[in-house]
Amino acid sequence: MTQLPFKKILIANRGEIAVRVIRACREMGIASVAIYTEIDRTALHVRMADEAYALDPEPSADSYLAMGKILNIAARSGAEAVHPGYGFLAENGDFAAQVNERGLVFIGPSPDTISLLGDKMAARTCMIKAGVPVVPGLEQRVTDIDAALKNAGKIGYPVLIKAAAGGGGKGMRLVHRADEMEKSIQMAMSEARSAFGDDRIYIEKYIARPRHIEIQVIADAQGNTVHLGERECSIQRRHQKVIEESPSPVVDDDLRKKMGETAVAAAKAANYVNAGTVEFLVDEEMNYYFLEVNTRLQVEHPVTEMVTGYDLVKEQINVASGLPLSFSQEDIAWNGHAIECRIYAEDPENNFMPSIGTIGSYVEPQGPGIRVDSGQDLGGEVSIFYDPLISKLVAWGRDRNEAVSRMRRALNEYRISGLKTVIPFHKAVMDNADFNRGAISTHFIADSMAAEDIAGDVDPLALKAMSIMTCLMDYKNKGAASSSETRATEIERGMWKYCGRRKSIGR
Ligand code: ADP
Ligand code: ADP
Ligand code: MG
Repeated sequence: MTQLPFKKILIANRGEIAVRVIRACREMGIASVAIYTEIDRTALHVRMADEAYALDPEPSADSYLAMGKILNIAARSGAEAVHPGYGFLAENGDFAAQVNERGLVFIGPSPDTISLLGDKMAARTCMIKAGVPVVPGLEQRVTDIDAALKNAGKIGYPVLIKAAAGGGGKGMRLVHRADEMEKSIQMAMSEARSAFGDDRIYIEKYIARPRHIEIQVIADAQGNTVHLGERECSIQRRHQKVIEESPSPVVDDDLRKKMGETAVAAAKAANYVNAGTVEFLVDEEMNYYFLEVNTRLQVEHPVTEMVTGYDLVKEQINVASGLPLSFSQEDIAWNGHAIECRIYAEDPENNFMPSIGTIGSYVEPQGPGIRVDSGQDLGGEVSIFYDPLISKLVAWGRDRNEAVSRMRRALNEYRISGLKTVIPFHKAVMDNADFNRGAISTHFIADSMAAEDIAGDVDPLALKAMSIMTCLMDYKNKGAASSSETRATEIERGMWKYCGRRKSIGR
């Protein structure tokens, strides 16, 4: 059943991923519909979309989750399909079903597939049946302590208690010894109940110093399923990725083929259509174990796009409209190396708490091999309501060394003032010896980074004072009588000049 590509798509999201989808729509000649809350009224995704509709007047974390309202806007705007991005409603099977019931197309897998794979226990069972290697552990949910102790003993401590409905790095609890089990189970269940409204938990072996390596898959409705290689996402904070790259420094052609075929088998076992990610943990002996499937576009999809040359969002839209994939497994070739740094507005000196505020000045890096997927620009507002991701900075090079040196250069060019960002943290990673050797695991930050590298080495107050002084001296020397606005710009410029100088002396 081949349909015409859509004429109009509603994007049920905000920030950089909404902007990313709008760009794909524009290239395809498809009109885009944005939604927004009051606080996002002037946000980049709203300005870039062809049409924009207001959700709740009150800023709230829940607004972009208002299914009924979003579906009414979709109907009012005449959109034929809904792209959910990631986060919010992207992995909500009920939402996908409601989109379909309204006669619209959900750009993602079927509601049944989303619901199956969203349940980590059901997903494990499905994968075991399909012969996919899973992390050793329990297939049944844990309810009684005796069974838990018996099984944990068999698996071997330490073990990880996981919430069936967990996600976003939440809902996991490490148990080192048998005498911690009872209390851990109680706490894990009550946490899961309050965070996900579902207290089902299970036990998995805790893999020591694993790598997180995931495979991008995409499938069409005609039954073609292909993989686009791996992404290494081992650099994590609180079980959430902060830096991703493709290819992985440790995956060779043989392993890529093997993991790719396993991921394709996993997708087929779940009747998967559209783009998705099969996540694996890889242990120190290079054994890989299925972790979960993310039934959506992934935050880190750009690194795959950079090395394969395919536009995953366009492919998602085409597949959802009923078209077959435009390529087969044999067509896919990997070229060079890509790295992504997630640029969060977070304060590395304050335990990476979100840094709330308005973006005062904003200049993105440019030049060879650089891609910036951002959802913010000058005057952008980082609030407590949403994820503090400002942008994703991606660098491509012919090999890993060139990608790293371009990333280092681009991080130095990036200018964001008005709030704290994790740019100093990323610079420290790019200079880290273990990172440069590719010797990384999910414990990289704890194992390989010094405290001062994580916190950054510049005292912001001293920096500001010094830069203002430098500026005033420049100003005095020039003797120019400029308006207060030019003076402000000059102060800003002086500040960055000083910042650059101090860095080059420091390193
Ligand atoms: P990725 O695997 O693509 O890196 P993340 O785990 O970082 O994805 O999550 C992407 C976004 O989705 C983040 O904003 C995260 O907070 C959100 N998210 C993921 N899973 C859930 C969940 N189960 N509940 C709520 N938010 C989630
Ligand atoms: P989420 O749904 O929150 O993304 P995942 O199951 O994908 O949860 O796990 C997220 C991260 O937690 C992994 O990338 C890894 O760092 C860590 N993790 C999960 N399971 C294990 C395990 N069994 N052993 C060691 N680390 C694990
Ligand atoms: Mg995951």
